[in-house]
Amino acid sequence: MSNATSKKDKKNKGHTEESEKSFQHNLDNLNNMLKRFEKISEVSPTFCTAKWLQSTVYLHTGLTHSCHHPPAHKIPLDEIENSPAALHNTKYKKEQRQKMLEGERPNECHYCWNIEDLPSENMSDRMFKSTNTQWSFQHLEKIKSAGSKSDLNPTYLEVAFDNTCNFKCMYCSPDISTTWMDEILQNGPYPTSVKTGNLDWLKEQDRLPIRHDQHNPYVEAFWKWWPQLYKDLNTFRITGGEPLLNQNTWKVLEFVNNNPHSEFNLAINTNMGIQSKWITKFCQVSNSIADRINSLDIYTSCEAQGEQAEYIRFGLNYKSFMDNNEYLLSNAYEQNRLHFMITFNALSITSFLSFLADIRKLRRKFKPYKMLDRVSLMVSYLQWPQFQSVLVLPKEIRQSYSAQFLNYAQENSIESGPDGFLYLEEVEQIKRLSQFMLQELDENDLYLRRKDFGLFYQEYDKRKKTNFSKVFPELSEFYGKCLKL
Ligand code: SF4
Repeated sequence: MSNATSKKDKKNKGHTEESEKSFQHNLDNLNNMLKRFEKISEVSPTFCTAKWLQSTVYLHTGLTHSCHHPPAHKIPLDEIENSPAALHNTKYKKEQRQKMLEGERPNECHYCWNIEDLPSENMSDRMFKSTNTQWSFQHLEKIKSAGSKSDLNPTYLEVAFDNTCNFKCMYCSPDISTTWMDEILQNGPYPTSVKTGNLDWLKEQDRLPIRHDQHNPYVEAFWKWWPQLYKDLNTFRITGGEPLLNQNTWKVLEFVNNNPHSEFNLAINTNMGIQSKWITKFCQVSNSIADRINSLDIYTSCEAQGEQAEYIRFGLNYKSFMDNNEYLLSNAYEQNRLHFMITFNALSITSFLSFLADIRKLRRKFKPYKMLDRVSLMVSYLQWPQFQSVLVLPKEIRQSYSAQFLNYAQENSIESGPDGFLYLEEVEQIKRLSQFMLQELDENDLYLRRKDFGLFYQEYDKRKKTNFSKVFPELSEFYGKCLKL
């Protein structure tokens, strides 16, 4: 046996042992989780800790939901005047909690009931969240004594302070991005069947953001609540808009710097396409708070490469985006992690794998010794607006790319050998995406979505002076057909 072959065999043997250990570890975790879920079920068969402990609060629109699956509801102003904790503990939410304690299924949680009612054994988010040992399960007794009537601070909170954003990504909306809002105020909604960007709908739903020059009672209530909320928080995630362009984000960071909290995990969503002075400032702050909290995670979004990514996320400069990511990984505290959230849509299909190759380079370059990778990715698929879903594309195109993605995931799994870079959950996500891409829509739905596809991108090119067919030559023929519908 040559030296080279024996070295390779040793490396592969080590790899197989590692895989077996990891399999056993996963099995143990699953068994422990099932045991914890038995305790949860003793409270009631529909009980879910997330209704008490996990919350998202949109301070610019005064909406909240627990968890993120049910539709968000309005926070009544008279409730936060009484107590700022009503930003999370609304009367409406307390009614849903009571239903859970009585073993009733709140309708708003249909996302989980649908999964639990499937014929095969499936685990819903209710099970995952309620048994989570980082922010959830250990507070079971506290929830039981609070019941449905008392306020309880969340241990996992996501907050949006406002919608200031320098991007107008094609799948975003005016309530989430000020740049989108400016465009709609200037040019009106898009001429699709659903009137994309329509402000009347937001008005009807009471979802119009509070203007920046107006007093925001929700932000005021947040700062009243914050000092006592902070001590109970395990995870706090700031989203937007673009949080690094909002002064409240910097105020939180300053507070954290002055008030160490060893169990606090901070997460920030950023488009990483802002001026470099903000990224530089963020790295400095991340270094100064590093030993004051448990962890700091940065979440960014992209789902394609180069000018295709720039078309999808309008306002993005792909090179600056990747440079900023590198800068962050080189200059922020070395335990900070960077997560890429991929919202796969019809226009990601042609450069998705090239984008994964760029992530692979970053992951390799910044892999710390004996520590989890600092760069991770999460693949989900876009469902809204429906005409931007990958399912609008012709079957032949979807089939061909679906097969390529499946091969890529298998060939690049860490299970495939020492050169693999995709973790099992990432492989699973890509596999799920490949399967989803093969789903068929009914003819009427497909017709409407394709018509909207043509109408939307024709107007998009007109408003933004872009050129769909030039940026996506592989989809140009399909686009031409949509325009004729
Ligand atoms: S039951 Fe499901 S949808 Fe409802 S709060 Fe729990 S995890 Fe969320």
